[in-house]
Amino acid sequence: MSWFKRAQQGIFTKDKAEMPGGLWQKCDGCSEVLFAKNIEENSFTCDKCDFHFRADSDSYVSICFDEDSAEEFNQEMKSVDPLNFIDAKGSYKEKLESTIKKKGVNEAVRTLTGKINSVDSVLVVMDFSFMAASMGSVVGEKISRAIQVATDKKMPLVIVCASGGARMHEGALSLMQMAKTSAKLARFSQQGGLYITVLTNPTTGGVSASFAMLGDVILAEPKALIGFAGPRVIKQTIGKDLPDGFQTSEFLLEHGFVDRIIHRKELKSEISSLIDLLL
Ligand SMILES: [Zn+2]
Repeated sequence: MSWFKRAQQGIFTKDKAEMPGGLWQKCDGCSEVLFAKNIEENSFTCDKCDFHFRADSDSYVSICFDEDSAEEFNQEMKSVDPLNFIDAKGSYKEKLESTIKKKGVNEAVRTLTGKINSVDSVLVVMDFSFMAASMGSVVGEKISRAIQVATDKKMPLVIVCASGGARMHEGALSLMQMAKTSAKLARFSQQGGLYITVLTNPTTGGVSASFAMLGDVILAEPKALIGFAGPRVIKQTIGKDLPDGFQTSEFLLEHGFVDRIIHRKELKSEISSLIDLLL
């Protein structure tokens, strides 16, 4: 579409770049130009083709919890820079500071207690817009503490996962979070805790290789990318073409790694039914 036609229709490049703040957004699924307000009211999905846009942590909190029931904990925790990491793009410390300022949250994960259809629950939500929801020490620690809250208070635990992988800026410390969160979940499970995981686009790297795939029930949003390494790396390693739809929610459901694919609008009712059924 030419800039002139875009201007006639009120679509501006700035708006497109700043979605969901802009007026219009083109759907990546069906190419329809949608009114941003409608997308938001539709739980950040397309009402024409059900494409799931990326939603932030606030959206998942309001989707999952009863109104005004959410209480966040450990939100003040911030990462440090143990390796004094600097790459071509600058230092980790500066990157953290600028992201915290821009996003208004201190880390890529938020941990909360609240009610899911009147049942007290612990909700953990990862936010991809914060450094690709990479897992560093604080992400791992906050998740571990949330699991401990669910264990102590005997509440069901829901983790909405999204991640680009481990936070390389923290070296081996980031990888240790995989073992830490998995060990916490094993204890939670031994004590009869219910853990539901929700895989969103994309759930990859160390997160997919630890707590994301350890749920008693594993739900996924439609057409989410879920895997450890990316398709290009796998293709290079095995030297073969990959099957159609490889690493999508639908492919994983077919092969038994995911229990159900859930439209975001039905997420709360599905989680609530599972809690009623399994607790
Ligand atoms: Zn669409």
